[in-house]
Amino acid sequence: MIYQSTRNDDLKASSAQAILDGMAKDGGLYSPVSLAEVALDWRALLSLSTQDMAAKILAALLPSFSETEMAALVQQAYAGKFESDELTPTVRVGDDTVLELFRGPTSAFKDVALAMLPVLMTAARKKCGVDDDILILTATSGDTGKAAMEGFRNVPGTRIMVFYPYGGVSPVQQAQMATQDGDNVCVSAVRGNFDDAQTGVKRIFAAVEREGLLRGKGVRLSSANSINIGRLAPQVVYYFKAYADLVKSGRIAVGDAVDFAVPTGNFGDILAGYFAKELGLPVGKLICASNANNILTDFLSTGVYDRNRPFYKTVSPSMDILVSSNLERLLFMLSKDADLVARLMKNLSETGAYEVPASLKEQLDLLFFAACCDDGGTKAAIGEVWRRYGYLMDTHTAVAYEAARQYKAACPDHGSVVILSTASPYKFPAAVLEALGEEPGEDEFAAMERLEALTGVPMPKNLRGLRERPVRHRDVIDRADMLNYVLDKAMQARW
Ligand SMILES: *Cc1c(COP(=O)(O)O)cnc(C)c1O
Repeated sequence: MIYQSTRNDDLKASSAQAILDGMAKDGGLYSPVSLAEVALDWRALLSLSTQDMAAKILAALLPSFSETEMAALVQQAYAGKFESDELTPTVRVGDDTVLELFRGPTSAFKDVALAMLPVLMTAARKKCGVDDDILILTATSGDTGKAAMEGFRNVPGTRIMVFYPYGGVSPVQQAQMATQDGDNVCVSAVRGNFDDAQTGVKRIFAAVEREGLLRGKGVRLSSANSINIGRLAPQVVYYFKAYADLVKSGRIAVGDAVDFAVPTGNFGDILAGYFAKELGLPVGKLICASNANNILTDFLSTGVYDRNRPFYKTVSPSMDILVSSNLERLLFMLSKDADLVARLMKNLSETGAYEVPASLKEQLDLLFFAACCDDGGTKAAIGEVWRRYGYLMDTHTAVAYEAARQYKAACPDHGSVVILSTASPYKFPAAVLEALGEEPGEDEFAAMERLEALTGVPMPKNLRGLRERPVRHRDVIDRADMLNYVLDKAMQARW
């Protein structure tokens, strides 16, 4: 399968090249046109272990690597890093199934992909005969940054720089990043919100490419955001894993449709669900769950994407996003029309808005159900699920739970629903404590301990003792200084 830019039919790349580049040189994202030609027997996957499933799915999506090669890469990526070899367990909560994606080294679902990406990147570098160091630039709404640094930490031939919105991540997320160790990692806060940081990173890619700023310097840029196809592909696997669990438990028969509720920000996680569906998995509706930044809820109900609106800081900060990058891939795969996508993205950058044609809107209606809730609804869901089922959700998972509830009310003949759980509740302890009716207090670290004492749900090992770890990164910069910051750092032999 060949990848191409979502904005230009002539800009093509192998999967290894697409991983190495991160994004296409014209500002588009590397995407398959269709997954129809991918030969994958989805039924045969259901009896495999998660890691064997991953090897087959990833080799199908990234055919620069053979299945044998991919099996070794999967082993290398995941062995011993997650709480269990199952990687992403499912838990029964009332009538629903919660897919726990946060059992990895940094307690966020980003680990599933970011444990794999460095291994893929290193293998792609070898495959493409590249000697340059890879400098990974990453904008983060809080979780990607930590998971990416953990994944790339001390990986030879790579360095990683992370930008997060100053004051826009939770204190726990901030501490996780500021205390990151490793000789090849660097992290800075940017004055602005996540969209500013993400736009800044995209502009750096464009400027470096246009002006050849790193030419001959032995360094090239790539991305660990879900604009990188190597980040997206590993996320497809857990849709199959969840489906297999439902079959094994006897809750569904092979072939029954399953609906997935996905707490959505940059649209990577839910796009992976669309990939799973295109690969044949009986995915019913993809429930796109948003917080008060409900631009996707509006888009999916009207066909108009309009970022000219207030930006809210919510208790689910990893979804505080107004420009969902991966939507571009969906628009491309549904329309198969790079000129259309180029036009829409030009409108977005010039006017902050675009409207999709009616035919595309009809396709979206068939695939998605969109719902949102504010912080009040988020906390109410956490409290209710704890009281009724003794299950503790984080704030992002709670948004998906609430969206699933709205979906079930709107579609009474729905099938089994899987709720994707994207973070440990201990990453957002103040909001979770408040949801349980407690006074959260000022100190998030004390809140973590109180939450554990109150609920008895064990705190993940990696978050314990976070407060005592030495702070290694303190930079705060202006948006306008991002490019120079990167160029400066790129030229330093040691960080
Ligand atoms: C990143 C993130 C999301 C959103 O995922 P996207 O792929 O960006 O849509 C949701 N929840 C948590 C906890 C996250 O870290």
